[in-house]
Amino acid sequence: MFTWFNGKHDFLQYVTQIKSYQLEAERYLSLQQEVPGYCGACRRVRNFTVNSGVYFGTLPNLREGLVCECGLSNRNRLIYSAVALEVEDHADVQIAILERISILYKRLQETFPEIIGSEYIGERVQGGTVHTVSGISVRHESITELSFSKCSLDVIVHNDVLEHVFDYKKALEELYRVLRKGGTLIFTCPFFFRLERELQKARILADGSLELLMEPEYHGDPINAQGALTFYHYGWGLLDDLVRCGFRDVRVGVNYDVFAGLVSNNHPEYEYGNMLPLIIRAVK
Ligand SMILES: [Zn+2]
Repeated sequence: MFTWFNGKHDFLQYVTQIKSYQLEAERYLSLQQEVPGYCGACRRVRNFTVNSGVYFGTLPNLREGLVCECGLSNRNRLIYSAVALEVEDHADVQIAILERISILYKRLQETFPEIIGSEYIGERVQGGTVHTVSGISVRHESITELSFSKCSLDVIVHNDVLEHVFDYKKALEELYRVLRKGGTLIFTCPFFFRLERELQKARILADGSLELLMEPEYHGDPINAQGALTFYHYGWGLLDDLVRCGFRDVRVGVNYDVFAGLVSNNHPEYEYGNMLPLIIRAVK
């Protein structure tokens, strides 16, 4: 069940309320190898492998962990739950997700056969063209230059992409453009609940070169073995950026549910780095 927030004040109250429960539950979970839990995609109790091999020091990253037997991690089940909630009872809904070779795409495609998946293949690749990656036919889409027609999608989803996009405001404009009136944007990104404005960690200069403003941070990328560079740590200003693009009902949704394996990332620095299982939702 999602609890929705449109600003920092109410969110901080919620954080204060659940903090002791959260920390004790996650301390317990991080000491287990495997726990039973309800998977929203499998729609039954299954076993979750707690540690997926991603760590903060010695602590397992539970956002990438708590992996169901079906392959979906905590973060993937969170996105799955948000999409399922959005699409519930609607027939003929055109959904696009900006990933294709992931287990999340596969699980969503089983439930929503018409979903369109894509990956960012590389620079100077024509949007909408199909390429073979790991033996799979993959459509290329760049979030800052989508090939979808204006007002053509009911739901568009991306999952930990935006922090890797230098011109993220262009990306938000594109996401707005391709949605139908009343259509919904649903996404995750690392969200730092104490930050008002985003923290910029790197930038691309006019000559195309990269300037690091801080210690570089790379995340796993299914297409690029080097990983993807993080340009931003986002905070509440991201909601204002969405409003400026024209989106309405811009909210942060938290789905904290220990038995469903939807918990925080387990980051040891609670005030900066700890992330609840949250999505951002905005309506055109
Ligand atoms: Zn499952």
